[in-house]
Amino acid sequence: MGKVLVLNASYEPLNITSWRRAVVLLIKGKAEQVEHNGKVVYAEMPLPTVIRLRQYVRVPYKEIPLTRRNILHRDAHSCQYCGYSGDDLTLDHVVPRSRGGGDSWENIVTACVRCNVKKGNRTPKEASMLLRQTPHKPHSGLYFEVTKHIKSGLHQEWQKYVIGI
Ligand SMILES: [Zn+2]
Repeated sequence: MGKVLVLNASYEPLNITSWRRAVVLLIKGKAEQVEHNGKVVYAEMPLPTVIRLRQYVRVPYKEIPLTRRNILHRDAHSCQYCGYSGDDLTLDHVVPRSRGGGDSWENIVTACVRCNVKKGNRTPKEASMLLRQTPHKPHSGLYFEVTKHIKSGLHQEWQKYVIGI
């Protein structure tokens, strides 16, 4: 039995929970069914895959740690200069550290060894190596969780609720 995506009353993704917990929220009337997968838990209770809370919940912003793993995940494990995806990926400072570039979501991208060496101590502009997308900070830790589930192919129906986060 799968996991359930919980949406806030505003339809923004809130968290991921077990189907059991989701069913309890539905029975208690705290949430409504948004998507189900056709299976049933018991009569008239389809197995939910997405539910929405009836009351809006305020959530404090959670900082996502700036780690190699998280940057690779944000960049879909592909070089942000040439698109290569494989084993030998490195992290590149867009503005080199020696030139004042800091450690931040906006200044660190995934790069293959080749591109990293080629770029050297230059900015993308100087090296004529354009970034495929502008790096920025992910909105929430939930984004990582949700995209992982979607990529696994198990929860494709979640896709439409995470567009834009
Ligand atoms: Zn590359």
